[in-house]
Amino acid sequence: MTTITVAHVSKRLGTNAQPVQAIDNLSLKITSGEVIAVVGPSGCGKSTLLRLIAGLAEPDSGHILYDNVPLSDIPLTERGVGMVFQEGALVPHWEAEKSVSFFYRLRHREQEVPSRVSEISKITGFGLEKLLSRRPGHLSGGEKQRVSIARALTRDPRVFLFDEPFSNLDAKLRGAARIELKRLLDAFPVTSVYVTHDQIEAVALAKRVAVMRAGKIEQMGNYQTLYHNPTNLFVATFIGTPPINLFEGRAREGQWHGAHFSGLPLRSDLAQDTKVILGIRPEFVKLTSENADGATAGIVSAVTPFYAERFQLIEAAAGKESWLLSAAPDIRISKGETVWCSFDREGIFYFDVKTGQRIG
Ligand code: ADP
Ligand code: MG
Repeated sequence: MTTITVAHVSKRLGTNAQPVQAIDNLSLKITSGEVIAVVGPSGCGKSTLLRLIAGLAEPDSGHILYDNVPLSDIPLTERGVGMVFQEGALVPHWEAEKSVSFFYRLRHREQEVPSRVSEISKITGFGLEKLLSRRPGHLSGGEKQRVSIARALTRDPRVFLFDEPFSNLDAKLRGAARIELKRLLDAFPVTSVYVTHDQIEAVALAKRVAVMRAGKIEQMGNYQTLYHNPTNLFVATFIGTPPINLFEGRAREGQWHGAHFSGLPLRSDLAQDTKVILGIRPEFVKLTSENADGATAGIVSAVTPFYAERFQLIEAAAGKESWLLSAAPDIRISKGETVWCSFDREGIFYFDVKTGQRIG
């Protein structure tokens, strides 16, 4: 297995007249056998990062190393990169069998194909054998991606790179494919980078998740850290569904004061009236009674049940502000009703308005 090091890598794309800094001085280390996930909005550089790690593109500056050897010094045939794309790039006129056995045939080991195929079928619980005689035109989206993964696995890859492989599948199929892939990665541990815009998928497959924006990694850590201890406003808003609530307010003598919620403890070294954004996730907004400390009234504008997750999402509003809170499923609340809300102080984040950095 291989340790991947990305050291101060930058990559510019586009033309001289219209350059795009796709990757901006990015550093990252993935230890041997580790699966990391990369999430971030469209255009933030996820695919470019994968292409650089695969050696399909060269950095303008910085280095990419496999086990401390610069990628540029490793011959193509020894890099052992297995890649799976959004649109499984299968050869249209090849039967699945031919795709899956391609690398075995190169090494004159085609006799091993049936046992490897049945091994993959057994681990995933997915009948790969049934698909082998079919061409991509006769495979569903989910089946194509499974064949692509099987093909990548038969390379005995040192490095596995996934670029949103299941994003074209419907939610149910995506869930199933994710579980199969997880089993495969447990059975054949390979250093892997999994790019997705789906944070639930990221958490399901990887212990460490990198959040990217504009060619940089904003924060990397396990989901709990990203969720409960984001370093800035971007990570706080990108991670978490339903999304975090944000309120504008000002610092006054060690307290934060907003339009409706007010008087919450804040560090006292900020200049009087400094603008500060308060962030709080819906699970930390509590329903309370009128005379409770810090209670603020809101009028319920929407109630959405989440049956599987066993909560209901309530949207409440006061003046121009609105916020979300998650309530127990059995509480009866309806639209138009007045509710009293307060913040669990454990769940409060403060952010600098200008930089977005966390300041408390
Ligand atoms: P992501 O995969 O996160 O959506 P990409 O890595 O594909 O992002 O793209 C990063 C940035 O580089 C985007 O702004 C994109 O428009 C730009 N880009 C990607 N490929 C090219 C290209 N071949 N020429 C010019 N710009 C490109
Ligand atoms: Mg992409």
